[in-house]
Amino acid sequence: MGDIRIFTAADLGTLIAHLRTRGYRVMGPTRRGDAIVTDEIRSIADLPHGVGDTQGPANYRLTERDDGAYFGFAAPAQSSKPVFFPSEEVVWRGRRDHEKGGHFTVERDTLKASPVALLGVRSCDLRAVQIHDRVLSSRQYKDAHYTARRGGTLVIAVACGEPADTCFCASMGTGPRPAATDPQTGEPAYDLLFTEVLDKDNHHFVVEIGTDAGREVADAIEAGEGTGHDQAQAIEITDAAAARQTRRIDRKSVHDVLRVSAESPRWDDVASRCLACTNCTMVCPTCFCTTVSDVSDLTGENAERHRVWDSCFSSEFSYVHGGPTRESTKARYRQWITHKLSSWEEQFGMLGCVGCGRCITWCPAGIDITEEAAALGRMSGLGSKASAAMT
Ligand code: SF4
Ligand code: SF4
Repeated sequence: MGDIRIFTAADLGTLIAHLRTRGYRVMGPTRRGDAIVTDEIRSIADLPHGVGDTQGPANYRLTERDDGAYFGFAAPAQSSKPVFFPSEEVVWRGRRDHEKGGHFTVERDTLKASPVALLGVRSCDLRAVQIHDRVLSSRQYKDAHYTARRGGTLVIAVACGEPADTCFCASMGTGPRPAATDPQTGEPAYDLLFTEVLDKDNHHFVVEIGTDAGREVADAIEAGEGTGHDQAQAIEITDAAAARQTRRIDRKSVHDVLRVSAESPRWDDVASRCLACTNCTMVCPTCFCTTVSDVSDLTGENAERHRVWDSCFSSEFSYVHGGPTRESTKARYRQWITHKLSSWEEQFGMLGCVGCGRCITWCPAGIDITEEAAALGRMSGLGSKASAAMT
């Protein structure tokens, strides 16, 4: 068979069951109350069937859809970040060893993680996973837990046909259709790529095969074979989604805009609105800052070190001997956006923003990274006309 398959909803259900039979922990989008999050998918009934969303600055609402879409929403409230990089985990455990004179014996926590099938991951979030691979798993000192969880992952991506008002992946070059390969490593980006076709009389998925592992799984489902025409239809859907995005960042100029804006008066403006609540960093699929928290039990015999997500918006985060180096909200916002849109590139060879829009949706003050970047571009004189026109 060729590289295109046509899945029905029943085939998608069979795929989930098949992956679970093969020992995969299937992780994907599911509804929890009034939000879509990433969690374990045990059957097709766990997917958000007939659920859409509306998103805007400081605004997120789920909606009912009458077309039976399974992926008819934009970036879920929570990305796939916690699947490989949980918000809190034990790094080591220690216990007092009375046979060794009361000294502490320390054991590193080792993981026996089942391989993950990442189902329904969006293009922006898939790029964020690639960024985390680079940051956490490809440098001299690897994050052992991340690397263990990430090993053997089967990626079943979903191309986006329904961008939210907050999405700007098209301008960042990260979506709505994922690139076939990781631009840094050249490795295949996905094993299978689904595009949902919401034809009233023929609701189906165009499935493109990205790897041999993906082909093996697709072959096991025995779905129908697709053609180049089906692939063209899938590309039309994502092209239309890209054209509907109204927000953008000019990624050609933004690096230099931030470089020359350290003393911009815009920082006072944004600081007067920012609550330093840390929401933007908690929802961001690329943020990876952590701190450690040591706990012991009441007997004093056992202790644990936990690694927990932290944020550059907290005063404790930059604490160095006697006080924080970034005391003001102005300094913290400047640090965050400058890292995302400029210095990340020096560190990792790419920008640290994938255009998912979550920091816009979940900012209680409605602060919009695209608007701040455009304002800085206009004030510095280095931004593109298109970006500057948005302010
Ligand atoms: S900075 Fe905002 S838009 Fe960019 S990846 Fe993070 S949450 Fe998404
Ligand atoms: S930019 Fe918004 S979400 Fe981020 S810390 Fe400030 S108020 Fe909170």
